[in-house]
Amino acid sequence: MIKGSTQLVAIVGSPIAQVKSPENFNRWFAEQGQDAAMLAIDLQHTALDGFVTMLRGWHNLRGCVVTVPYKQQLASRLDDLSERSQALGTVNVIRREADGRLLGDIVDGEGFLNAARKQGFDPRDKNALVIGTGGVGSAIAYSLCQAGLTRLAISDLDGQRVEALAELLRTFFPHIAISASPASLAEFDLVVNASPVGMGAAGDGPMPLPVALMQTLRDTTLVADVVTAPAFTPFLSFARGMGCAIQTGPEMALAQLGNLGHFMGVTPLDI
Ligand code: NAD
Repeated sequence: MIKGSTQLVAIVGSPIAQVKSPENFNRWFAEQGQDAAMLAIDLQHTALDGFVTMLRGWHNLRGCVVTVPYKQQLASRLDDLSERSQALGTVNVIRREADGRLLGDIVDGEGFLNAARKQGFDPRDKNALVIGTGGVGSAIAYSLCQAGLTRLAISDLDGQRVEALAELLRTFFPHIAISASPASLAEFDLVVNASPVGMGAAGDGPMPLPVALMQTLRDTTLVADVVTAPAFTPFLSFARGMGCAIQTGPEMALAQLGNLGHFMGVTPLDI
């Protein structure tokens, strides 16, 4: 029940009907008996500036989760950004301070790492491959580097994106060896699909890597996907068939709740 006293958070994007955060947050608030609620906002692009002005003046709003397509556009309209948001030029969460200032962070990478740690994966001194260098792939790559990876390979259909991300990561993490598309997967402790390949696919649908390359996986490698539907993408099913431990997109989304809620000041970090 939303009451006059209820503290609000929001999620903004367009479209918005597919997002799972409102269910996850509202269930958690109800279970905790917390007088808080999340609203889903499907915002037209032309209303972005007005929306930011409204956020600044919205006294009972603690913060706002940001999803596609506004992660970059909102980053450039806030008062302050975390170091990683500044580096990557994106936000997926905004906190409204009591004086109306808006602060942004990008916690996709931290959510991914939380889920991986739950599987027993420690990124320190490890070697990882991230496929897809868009918003989510860049955030995961950045967080992996921050968490102590030794070597990182990145790949994408868009070669310019790979170059740009490699240059950025070399600036922030000069001690980490960054390379492009590998010839074999045998050297990796972690292989992540951070591209949308596999979304809506079933059975032997498309994978982000050729089958011949997938066959070079070691069974000690953790294979992860960010795609949320289906949870078990063709990529993950193939990896499971090779004997690898796997991590699904919904596991990442769930593990990120605490990062989002904690930044907005409405949940502990570990929920
Ligand atoms: P994006 O459009 O910013 O980036 C996607 C990147 O993948 C692009 O650079 C594109 O060139 C690349 N790509 C496409 N096909 C490829 C292929 N075959 N091989 C290599 N690279 C390829 O998208 P995004 O915002 O980074 O989102 C990526 C995925 O992450 C989406 O499916 C989204 O639904 C999902 N997502 C999951 C979570 C979660 O918590 N699990 C959170 C946010 C987004």
